Amino acid sequence: MMQLTRRKLFAGAAAAGAVLAGPSPIVLSARAAAPAAGKQNAGWYRYKVGDFEVTVVTDGMNTNPLSDSYVVNAPKPDVNAALEADFLAKDKATHSYTPVVVNTGSKLVAIDTGLGLGMFDQSKGAVGQYHANLQAAGIDRNAVDVVIISHFHGDHINGLVGPENKPAFPNAEVMVPEVEWAFWADESNVSKLPDIAEPQMPNPKRVFGVLGNKVTKYQAGKELVPGITAIASPGHTPGHTSHVVASGNSKVLVQADITAGMATLFARHPEWQFVFDTDRAQAVQTRLKLYDMAATEKMMLQGYHFAFPAMVYVEKSGTGFRLVPAPWSSSI
Ligand SMILES: [Zn+2]
Repeated sequence: MMQLTRRKLFAGAAAAGAVLAGPSPIVLSARAAAPAAGKQNAGWYRYKVGDFEVTVVTDGMNTNPLSDSYVVNAPKPDVNAALEADFLAKDKATHSYTPVVVNTGSKLVAIDTGLGLGMFDQSKGAVGQYHANLQAAGIDRNAVDVVIISHFHGDHINGLVGPENKPAFPNAEVMVPEVEWAFWADESNVSKLPDIAEPQMPNPKRVFGVLGNKVTKYQAGKELVPGITAIASPGHTPGHTSHVVASGNSKVLVQADITAGMATLFARHPEWQFVFDTDRAQAVQTRLKLYDMAATEKMMLQGYHFAFPAMVYVEKSGTGFRLVPAPWSSSI
């Protein structure tokens, strides 16, 4: 057995120093001044659900000041305390955006689409990354067969529009919740939106106009493609829908915005009402019901607004839920 004595260690260090001293000073200074990369790597992550392959594709994240009314039924100091309990900065609201693509073996299915290409420049690259990351993950948007939309907020539908204001998924059937379609089609419903969401009202018309309004309306409770079933989860918006992706003995709940905004806050405190939820009391009921189900069934959640790759398990803890991130894996 080799004995690593102090003398050998120092001799080794000296030898290493000699090697380092060998190259010309130019090389040495180049090593010292390696430029900072200054950017993140492509954001996608892949895992299996039974025979299905799920690719998580981030659209990025952004941070804004925490408004006083971010949680409408909890004072800001309580919200800040909850942020600090999660080792998050107080007085800041950081939002992540995390669509997924499911390859069922017979269909390539995108679920939600991010904030849209235009947001990339506007945010200096912080968000609007979805389509670039999709490409980085080796997924051709022309090969997508189906796009399933959870609800009509801009951070979920704007990525339906591609370059030159053309459909981003030209060969895909776009499936939208029937209730959601009806709600946003009637502009008098603007009065039912929270003030903060009112500017969203004309946006679905713009986005679906680009598609020539060619959509398939679906109902909750129905299997949309083999292995992907719509689950009613209203409150965030009237037609808000989540999706169970199931293959073999495995399943995951692609929850969309059952917890939205800084989603971790509303998992810990499901009774807290998010300013952006349309029917806040209903959103609380939906959260409690579906998180209770996920905890009981030990079903993984794929959460649109959790930090990338946004895969968590939940267990009951006090009046809320403790989140346990699913571990990273080097293979799928
Ligand atoms: Zn959202």
